[in-house]
Amino acid sequence: MYFSFKNVLGILLPIFLSFHTAWAQPERWQQAVKYTMDIDFDIKKHQAKGKQILEYTNNSPDTLDKVFYHLYFNAFQPNSMMDVRSRTIKDPDPRVGDRIMKLSKGDQGFQNIESLQMNGRKVVYEIVGTILEVRLSEPILPKTKVTFEMEFVAQVPLQIRRSGRFSKEGIEYSMAQWYPKMCNYDYQGWHSNPYVGREFYGIWGDFDVKITVPSDYVVAATGILQNKDIVGYSYSQLEPAYRPKRLTYHFKAENVHDFVWAADPDYTQIVHQMSDSTKIRCFFQPGEKTTENWNKLPLIMEEAFHYINKKYGQYPFKEYAFIQGGDGGMEYPMATLITGERSLVSLVGVSVHELMHSWFQMVLGSNEALYHWMDEGFTSFATNDVMNHLVSKKLIPGTYEDNPHIKSVNGYINFALSGNEEPLITHADHFITNTAYGVASYTKGEVFLEQLRYIIGDQAFNKGMLSYFHTWKFKHPNPNDFVRIMEKASGLELDWFKEYFVNTTHTIDYQIEEMRGDELILRRVGNMPMPLDITLTKKNGERLYFNIPLEMMRGAKKGDFFFNNFKVVKDWPWTHPTYSFKTGVNFRDVDKVEIDPTKRLADKDKTNNVWPRLMPEKGADK
Ligand SMILES: [Zn+2]
Repeated sequence: MYFSFKNVLGILLPIFLSFHTAWAQPERWQQAVKYTMDIDFDIKKHQAKGKQILEYTNNSPDTLDKVFYHLYFNAFQPNSMMDVRSRTIKDPDPRVGDRIMKLSKGDQGFQNIESLQMNGRKVVYEIVGTILEVRLSEPILPKTKVTFEMEFVAQVPLQIRRSGRFSKEGIEYSMAQWYPKMCNYDYQGWHSNPYVGREFYGIWGDFDVKITVPSDYVVAATGILQNKDIVGYSYSQLEPAYRPKRLTYHFKAENVHDFVWAADPDYTQIVHQMSDSTKIRCFFQPGEKTTENWNKLPLIMEEAFHYINKKYGQYPFKEYAFIQGGDGGMEYPMATLITGERSLVSLVGVSVHELMHSWFQMVLGSNEALYHWMDEGFTSFATNDVMNHLVSKKLIPGTYEDNPHIKSVNGYINFALSGNEEPLITHADHFITNTAYGVASYTKGEVFLEQLRYIIGDQAFNKGMLSYFHTWKFKHPNPNDFVRIMEKASGLELDWFKEYFVNTTHTIDYQIEEMRGDELILRRVGNMPMPLDITLTKKNGERLYFNIPLEMMRGAKKGDFFFNNFKVVKDWPWTHPTYSFKTGVNFRDVDKVEIDPTKRLADKDKTNNVWPRLMPEKGADK
């Protein structure tokens, strides 16, 4: 999802280390699905009549006597949890506000279940808001596969949030969260989260979907179109009597955990074959506000793909579709729905952000309700990196920045100082305010990576990010899994960093107390400990660089592109409020000492980071 477009440009060219590692594959079971769906879509009623066959494999060691499905469209009914939450939260999403409460019957959404069987036998079920609770007549044993057969009718609501009909830009159908979808069951149990606002978690598997629409509609979707010859045929050449009234689009997608589609009679399509054989498709409504920028999109995104593939791991699917639709930007497997009437920088920004989710949500797939920041935050981090790269290639306007994450570091600090921050570990729907969710998930999630990069150095960090992708792809990693990867990449203990930065809202503040002789005396003022980078500039202009590791790291970073040629001094035990070391330079020869000259450390008070301390303004005049 796209939270807000920040001015995102800037970073040093990363060093790509060439290394060959065998990535150990962790053992963790996960469920598997295979959906076969046949959808008959009625544009007069805005309803999809569907048949769904779901082959469900229980790879868990547990016997399941119930299962749950998401029925997301039921959120778009007055007094749903999404509606009440939106009307009672202090800072509602303006796209939702009180709009759900005001929907007339025909404009509401629903997913009704007409029939449901497991292995040919009826099951007992009950719809509870956005969740279908199913009590099984026979349990699903460990390591067995069952088949659910369902008939359903879904009414597409007026577009309120993400999916729906008649978007502001005039896209007729944005079909996200549109079919009954099995909830995930994993080593942490069932995740039958009601649809209140956000974040999705699905089971990987294969989708085979047939969608029948009036023949003047163009359908864009997750997956690979199987019958190009039939739906791509130019029927307008035929006499009207010979033109088919309806066409069936047939899509297949493998190893995805969701399926999105969109339909509009005005869609035009650009197909772009990239040099590595991945295909980019762009679907948009031509017009003054779209055509020029959308025509530029494929080549720019090809460069983005190449950069991301090298740095964050190879995109594993054969196609990707940028589809005009939805209400901002929202990620799905092999596709995104984005609003399209944007400036070029904004269009590329949202496209890069949603594409980046292909790595952190579609391939890594952490449980987003619990670990939203591992998706949105990591995506934001990579987006700023990629946008800065595109600026350096002059593919988009903007200013190249040595470090494109500094703005996010400062944004996080400002919000932490407001007193409204909530811990990163908060469930996505359960933050007190939407703003606190946004800052935690997107900004602090990005800053999590930037702090880690500061702690372990950017060489180990880049190595770790690639190793993370290769080790945990298609396995739903949790925060601990990620931190273990970074521990292995750096040789340092990092659990303390995760505990502080994820589970608490403790903040960072260090200060330089004074210099006594050649001894530098420092104090930890904030509650969160961190290792420190220090520079000492002598009056003759010479500079010395020091790194103070925390004792509990059991080591120090080895190299750091941003802060090189440093000397590691003795460890700082976190329990000790003060710390000192001998710099070898008498204070009389010192021009300036500074904590974190690269400004990466999320230190909330930078005024006490230098010595001699900057005088208050009045004194500075003297
Ligand atoms: Zn996002």
